[in-house]
Amino acid sequence: MAYYKYDQYLQKSNSDAYDLTYGPGATVPHSGIYRCQGCGREIASNKGDPFPPQNHHQHATSQPIKWRLAVYADPSLK
Ligand SMILES: [Zn+2]
Repeated sequence: MAYYKYDQYLQKSNSDAYDLTYGPGATVPHSGIYRCQGCGREIASNKGDPFPPQNHHQHATSQPIKWRLAVYADPSLK
């Protein structure tokens, strides 16, 4: 679970970007915090970089690593 302290720095969004998943080595579409759908592990990834490789971590079951956007980092000035 990602944590935060100040409400004014995070905003609820219903974007479809939060519903897509990405496998190991896929290109990160948006900078932000991603959560593995198989185990709940979280990572911070930058747009354009690859997601971690298959050997990043193991699951007890054969469930694949699937990264899903949890928190989008907005690069524009507000
Ligand atoms: Zn996992």
